[in-house]
Amino acid sequence: MSPVLFPTPTHKCPGRRAALALALVLAVGCAPTFPATCVPGRIVELHVDLPPDDAARFAREAEAFVSDVSRYLGVPPPKARVYVFGSGWRLRRYLNRECAAFHERAGACFEASDGRLTVALAAADAGCPETPVLRHELTHAVIAANVARPMPWLDEGLAQVFERGCPPVDDPGRRARLTDLAPRIGPRLTRLLRLERHAQLDRTDYLIAWGFTWFLLHDRADGRRVIRACLGPPALGETPFQRAARGLGAPPDEFAREFIRSLRP
Ligand SMILES: [Zn+2]
Repeated sequence: MSPVLFPTPTHKCPGRRAALALALVLAVGCAPTFPATCVPGRIVELHVDLPPDDAARFAREAEAFVSDVSRYLGVPPPKARVYVFGSGWRLRRYLNRECAAFHERAGACFEASDGRLTVALAAADAGCPETPVLRHELTHAVIAANVARPMPWLDEGLAQVFERGCPPVDDPGRRARLTDLAPRIGPRLTRLLRLERHAQLDRTDYLIAWGFTWFLLHDRADGRRVIRACLGPPALGETPFQRAARGLGAPPDEFAREFIRSLRP
């Protein structure tokens, strides 16, 4: 399939000025300790505290994953830098300096102060990255490099859908929690489709974003085409809800009803 090229992707760190101001305060005597091993790659440049052979294996796996997700979504692969910090403390120190809005997260994807698309996360154990977090943030990198202002529900929905690999596989734990929520999902989904900023999503929104994105991809014959249409650039002055309606090709409420029906045990 031919790649879809979208102009002017953006994934700026929210509150960049605040982050830089905080960085000035924090920079004195407390620079982050960067991971020791760097594996340059065609798609992913990996920095991690692992012996070179182990680091190279992780870099190959990360590159293969990013290639697969990019192909699945029909977009070109990004060029991303990945920092795997040896501890949560070192990750927070780095994020405080570069993107303070994300400093409490297990992982983050953003444009760093040197202009490079950057994924940062902490090692789980033995210096290895936590794989679902790495896949989640690498998916954000694919979207950030290709999609202007992605709709928060779709950005987080896809990042979660690919946490278990590409092509995506179902997640029985999430599905069970979603089924319990089914009677109350209608108004929540309507609100979710209207949200403009990622920071507006709570934990339940994340769960519904996963479920709705999974439903579009797997319960509908034209799911991938619909997802690709939703990843198209926003029209001038278009709200997220209008953009979703255009991408879905029908009023989002119709899809929402079908989705809720699909949750019935
Ligand atoms: Zn995310």
